[in-house]
Amino acid sequence: MEKNNIKVIKFGGDCLSDSKHILKAVEIILSEKQFPVVVVSAMEGITELLISGIIKAKGRETNVNETISSLTEFHYNIAQESIKNDKVFNKTIQTFTTLIKKVERLLYGVSYTEEVTEAVKAYILSYGERISAAILSGVLEDNGTESTVIETDKIGLITDDNFEHATVNLEEFKRNFNFHAHSIYNAGIIPIFTGFFGSSPEGKVTTFGRGGADYSASVIAFGFEANELEIWKCCTGFTSADPDIVKEAIIIDKLSYFEAAELSYFGKKILHPLTIEPIASHEIPITVKNLCEPKSKGTLIVSDAYVEENVVKSISQNDNIVMIRIHGTGIGYKPGLIKNLSDALSANGINIFSTLSSQTTINIIIENNFAEEALEILNSFKGKIIEKIDFVRNIALIAIIGEGLLRKRGIFGRILNSISNVKVNVEMASAGASEVAIYIIVQKEEVPDVINALHKEFIKP
Ligand code: ASP
Ligand code: MG
Repeated sequence: MEKNNIKVIKFGGDCLSDSKHILKAVEIILSEKQFPVVVVSAMEGITELLISGIIKAKGRETNVNETISSLTEFHYNIAQESIKNDKVFNKTIQTFTTLIKKVERLLYGVSYTEEVTEAVKAYILSYGERISAAILSGVLEDNGTESTVIETDKIGLITDDNFEHATVNLEEFKRNFNFHAHSIYNAGIIPIFTGFFGSSPEGKVTTFGRGGADYSASVIAFGFEANELEIWKCCTGFTSADPDIVKEAIIIDKLSYFEAAELSYFGKKILHPLTIEPIASHEIPITVKNLCEPKSKGTLIVSDAYVEENVVKSISQNDNIVMIRIHGTGIGYKPGLIKNLSDALSANGINIFSTLSSQTTINIIIENNFAEEALEILNSFKGKIIEKIDFVRNIALIAIIGEGLLRKRGIFGRILNSISNVKVNVEMASAGASEVAIYIIVQKEEVPDVINALHKEFIKP
């Protein structure tokens, strides 16, 4: 296989929202000079429709009909508007009707048993991607190009058994996939992979969490040792700050893997947080592009660190966080305590943004919606050493991101100065945990002032 001849092209749900967008996606695929390997999300709004369909099915059997009609109608209309040839149209309808029948049966199962396991939920959600891949394949055929849909629970894309936030076992996948990669490439027929899911070691469908098709695309690029990964969205992409907060925000031309990985936890969460990991070992570059603004160059993400003259590339925020404060006078003397706490949290799929500790307090910052669960887990450690656990809410984490931040003198001082100039109190700050990020915690309502001040100081005076 010639590594350099393959480009993985991923389309997000917002690029598959109507026939106009889909035809643009097809144009992008067909004008590709390298061998295009396509990865798709479910069409816009379909994952949400399936999620609410599951909840409604659990409540009442008669609700299943409503979900199935919406699902059918949405995809039927898109197929009708995007496919001209009757034969191709009918074939496509037939294919996705079979898929929707499966969803229907699964939803009836949910409503009969009044029960939905994480495994069943993952399986039902995977149909959004199966249907969108089938329709895109139909539209390609209508444009004279053959393609094959490849469902990602059938190619040895093995994950752990976390059904809602799975992680791929890359080594095992590579071993399993090598054979497929060669035969797909040699056949020369455009493959369309379903994003968002793989399968557990027992062969059950597992999903990667919301936005997980980015991660799929990266895993597939790794599997092919592709030359490039291109991720299409219908939004502005990586910017120097959230444009809703800073009017002067600009699109970032280039990011390093580390910077992009940091940014994927913040702001508009342009990429799924796991996207960088699979492609990093092969140094495959990623371009994030805007299908709705094709003239914009997008953002190139590469393995090399690139130090900007101003050092700071982006100032981003996450206000969906809570800080857990763990108090105890002997905390500082207890070796391994932080590790045990963070192991317990991560074993439950809770991502820690940052921890900061002193001799008497450990502060752990996590996502808001995990707050109650985290408290329960941490409470089990309460005893001699941990005396009290409480929350600090209504705060936001601001990340100042750029390669070279810590190497250039005076940056931290400038950050604190700009913030104090707008009369904001820094609740907490952390520098040095990562080479490319400095974290600041402020009150939620101060976020716009702080970000604008920092943007003026570092990016656009
Ligand atoms: N369809 C899934 C979601 O909406 C995965 C994705 O779009 O990346 O979250
Ligand atoms: Mg989606």
